Formats: sequence, C-alpha cells, structure tokens
Amino acid sequence: MKRYDYLIVGCGLFGAVVAYELSRNGKVCIAIDKRNHVGGNVYTECVNDIIVHKYGAHIFHTNNEHVWDYVNSFAEFNRYTNSPLANYKGKLYNLPFNMNTFYQMWGVTTPKEARMKIESQKTEATMNTPQNLEEQAISLVGKDIYKTLIKGYTEKQWGKKAVELPAFIIRRLPVRFTFDNNYFDDRYQGIPIGGYTPIIEKMLQKSDIVLDTDYFSDKKFWNSLADTVIYTGEIDRYFDYCYGVLGYRSLHFKTSILKNQSNFQGNAVVNYTDADTPYTRIIEHKHFEFGQQADTVITKEYPIAFQTGIDPYYPINDDKNNMLYKRYLQLAQQQENVYFGGRLAEYKYYNMDQVIECALKITQNYLSFN
Ligand code: FAD
Repeated sequence: MKRYDYLIVGCGLFGAVVAYELSRNGKVCIAIDKRNHVGGNVYTECVNDIIVHKYGAHIFHTNNEHVWDYVNSFAEFNRYTNSPLANYKGKLYNLPFNMNTFYQMWGVTTPKEARMKIESQKTEATMNTPQNLEEQAISLVGKDIYKTLIKGYTEKQWGKKAVELPAFIIRRLPVRFTFDNNYFDDRYQGIPIGGYTPIIEKMLQKSDIVLDTDYFSDKKFWNSLADTVIYTGEIDRYFDYCYGVLGYRSLHFKTSILKNQSNFQGNAVVNYTDADTPYTRIIEHKHFEFGQQADTVITKEYPIAFQTGIDPYYPINDDKNNMLYKRYLQLAQQQENVYFGGRLAEYKYYNMDQVIECALKITQNYLSFN
C-alpha cells in the first residue's frame, strides 16, 4: 500500500494549486521541494517588517475573472498598479511607452506630434520585414526610444547583441498615445497584502511538506510513496539531459537593507536601460504595499548565463530549444503515472494567472481519470 495518492515535486504556484485542488477532493498528497521554503519563485519573506519578493517583482494581473476570484479567495489584494520607470544615464522616463515617455523624450505634447516623430524615425531597413530584434524595435517605436529604452536593457537581459536576437522576442511593444503609465492592460491587478507565501501555505495546508529535498537524490524512494507523481521541475533534468540541456537565462538577485532610509527611489520598479549598468532593474519592495517603514529594502537584478545546477529563469524559446523540448515532451507523454506541469516542466514562460489556469485545468483531468 502506498501512503499517498499523489507525490508533488515542487512547491511553487503550480504544485500548490494542484495540491490544494486534489486534497480538497479527498486525495492525500505529499509535496517536496529542493528549496528551504515553499512558493517557488513567487516566494515572499518579511525583512525588517517589509515584504520582500525574493525572486523578482511579482505583480498579479489577469483578465480571467475566475482566476482572479480564485486567488482572492486565499488573500486580500491591494490596488497596486504597475507603473515602472526607466533610468537611462540618470534621466527618468515613464513606462510603458506612452505620451509621458514621448514628452520626456522629445517634448511633444500631442498624440499627433508623437506619432509623426515615431514615423519619421523608422529607417528604410525597418520598413521591410524586420530581420532581428533591432529592426523590429525600430519599426515599432523609432530610433530614439529603441536606443534609449530598449537596446541596452534587452542586450543585458539576453546576453546578446540586439542584431543577433530574433525579431519575435518583441513581436508587440505596448505603445500608448495617452498619458497612462499603467503597464498592464488587464482588467484585474494587485499585490496580495502580506505577500504570496501565505497564499501558498494555505494551498498546501492539507498536504505533507518536505523541504530542502531534491527529488533526484532518491527518486525511487519518493516514487514509492505515491501512486501518481506531479512533476514541476526541469523537464530535461527528469530525463537526465539525455538529448541535451535546454537553454535558459538566469538571474542573480542582490538584496540590501537600507537603514534609516525610508524611500530610496520613490517607485517599486525602476529599469536601468543603459548598457553600462550591470543590473536591469532595482526593486524597492515596500512600494508594492505602500509601506511607511523607517527603513527600506532594495533588490538589484543581474541577468547571468545559465548552466545546470543554478536556477533557470527565462526559457530561451528559439527553434533549437523548442525542438529539443518537443523531444523531451514525447518522452514525458510515454511516462506512466507521471504528469508534467508548470513553467519548468513545460519549458514556457508563464505568468502567475496562466499557471493557476493550467493547474486548475490539469487537476480536473487528473480527478476525472483517477
Ligand atoms: P516555480 O515557481 O519555479 O516552482 C517550481 C518549484 O519546483 C521550485 O520551488 C523548485 O525549487 C522546485 N523543484 C524543481 N526541481 C525540483 C527537484 N528536482 N526536487 C524538488 N523540487 C524541485 N508572473 C506574473 O504573473 N507577474 C509577475 O510580475 C511576474 N514576475 C516575474 C519575475 C521574474 C524575475 C520571474 C522569473 C518570473 C515572474 N513571473 C511573474 C512568473 C512567475 O514567477 C511564474 O508564473 C511562477 O512562479 C511559476 O510557478 P511554477 O510552480 O510553475 O514554477
């Protein structure tokens, strides 16, 4: 007799939603994670009375009313609206690109002037089908915005020259001809008061949890505990990288407590868009919850190369990696009683609302088959 119906590998958002849905339908689950905490990348912790997003700024936004209601059943959300700024060599610009940005860039005050300015900056090369990210960006927003706000940031983020990056990375750029600094178009947006960790803890309340434990340290033992495995880790690692390693971009986070400094940058998110600053953004966590504490906590985000053994963050979904993933997917589909889900197992960048949507859908399937 196995002790559990399900073994869930990974206590991130995907694993937690699945665990919650299964256990509220009477299934007995155990969830393990190699990190020393639950939550995966949405993990938040309290530092000097400030909720810190340990693995980068996480702003919940969605158009899906069902997902919004679902997540609100676990926490109260505030009215935070993401309005990041860009710092280019000491000068600030509003994001996403909107009339405020165009005014800061060119001094134009009407949408008509802004459109004319952008049109006048599209070069001949970019009138045809753009061949790389640089041409694509210029075709969408013109030369000045590209050089000031896109080039350096994107090259740091991907560790490659913009002319070497495929155009599809920025198929669409949010450009608005209104004075509106709200980054997202989604109907619902906010930050859970008190952070994401309490949400995950509630979701995992009825499951047994084992932390600091890598599934692969004793896969046979962990498998022996349950009838079915829900695997949310890296898909290539599951198959011992038999076809090769999937490409990712990784991140290094450097967090500092600034004592007796109540307000460092006046905004939660400031992007650094020049090529010389080694980090891409600084997060000042207290502004996610409109904090009034005497101190502040900031995190600098440095993009770094990925290698096996460090945390993978952004999948590099180019043709080569997508083909590789397809081969792993074929293997995954042949596994009995093992299901793969979440951003690492599906080799896909997912926003939180998409993760919840997928986890709910998949759990419905598990429940109807088992
Ligand atoms: P994860 O959170 O990665 O969870 C997987 C878990 O599995 C991890 O805890 C890992 O330790 C564990 N694990 C892996 N392998 C093993 C193993 N072998 N044994 C045991 N445990 C294992 N989304 C938004 O909607 N809004 C945002 O503002 C936003 N900002 C983001 C910023 C950054 C920098 C990043 C990288 C992502 C952001 N996201 C955002 C996306 C969000 O983080 C993801 O949607 C979500 O975290 C994915 O959840 P998951 O459970 O699939 O993966």
